[in-house]
Amino acid sequence: MSGSKFPRNPVADYLRDVPRSGIRDFFDLVSSRKDVISLGIGEPDFVTPWRIREASQYALDRGATSYTSNRGLLKLRQAISGYVARAFGVTYDADTEILVTVGVSEALDLAVRALCNPGDEILYHEPCYVSYPAVVTFAHGVPVPIPTRRENDFQLTRAMIEPYLTPKSRALMLNFPNNPTGAVMNRRDLEGIAALAVERDLIILADEIYSELTYDGERLSIAALAGMKERTVFLHGFSKGWAMTGFRLGYACAPAELSEAMMKIHQYTMLCAPILSQEAALEALKSDAETESMRDTYEKRRNFIHTALNEIGLPCHRPCGAFYAFPYVGDYGLSSKEFALRLLDEENVACVPGSAFGASGEGFLRCAYATSLDDIKEALVRMGRFVGRLKARA
Ligand code: PMP
Repeated sequence: MSGSKFPRNPVADYLRDVPRSGIRDFFDLVSSRKDVISLGIGEPDFVTPWRIREASQYALDRGATSYTSNRGLLKLRQAISGYVARAFGVTYDADTEILVTVGVSEALDLAVRALCNPGDEILYHEPCYVSYPAVVTFAHGVPVPIPTRRENDFQLTRAMIEPYLTPKSRALMLNFPNNPTGAVMNRRDLEGIAALAVERDLIILADEIYSELTYDGERLSIAALAGMKERTVFLHGFSKGWAMTGFRLGYACAPAELSEAMMKIHQYTMLCAPILSQEAALEALKSDAETESMRDTYEKRRNFIHTALNEIGLPCHRPCGAFYAFPYVGDYGLSSKEFALRLLDEENVACVPGSAFGASGEGFLRCAYATSLDDIKEALVRMGRFVGRLKARA
């Protein structure tokens, strides 16, 4: 209509204060430069294994171009049920308790929206994946970060959660192995958190996306502990363990009532996950061979980067899972953002400032080892040179 003006205030109030992802900001900068070694991207450097790509191609050749059931292909839900039972020891019903989603991203969003009343407090440990506080805000909940610290290897304990509980506390989000710290929980502490969840009637959202990439310690989901299946939403997907980020496929396993509520949002907003990605995921679950081989490669890189960071003067706890090292860089009088920007500027190495993962990430740097060992070695030579100069000036 001629003469009509764009509304003066087109964006909803609650969105105004949600910051842009600090990772995205940083990578807009990186993409404008040449010859950068990137330890920045939280994405496998492997191409999806061939048999999985082929299954998707073959499905396309067969003319698999339709919608699927809202919950996802039944044969895939059955395969997911089998996998989760085998790998985690928890059994979910394929008809009523499993929902196939567009990545863990959608599953997380659905879970929070399905359980959160306006003003409910959703707790999560920090530093954390950049989406957590945003997703809570989108659901009109209140994000409550619980700082974790390098002094205890970024573990979370019952005692650390208790001071943050109020009558409004509704749910606790857990992510181990953790992005960005690489922390993995031990059974005793996880049991303590489970007991607290029962006592305080908390729902647990367990983001298990890095579970296949566990190098030290027990591979354990809180959903497997006694009494926890009933109050846990188990979130998992194919992006990391199977190098399938571009397929955008994940799933949520939850008690039937909550699963049905998540389904309601999913059916009206997403309808279903893409069929070709579902066919690929079905093939993915037929073998663990490539996942195990990728895991071994990450572990070798982990061993190298952990030792090398400590040697060059960036103290780093041992990352026990995922593909991130999270060294402390606060000894040189620079904020983590200044450190990352100068490292990029002076040595062409890109890492993400820890502050992108919440206030308690300040003083740290996230170094992803999802790139070749040769590149990691060269990046560490450059970082050593950079730190050497900082030390000389100190
Ligand atoms: N949770 C965590 C902890 C992540 O690191 C990521 C991706 N970086 C996601 C969820 C989202 O993964 P997906 O590709 O399955 O949406």
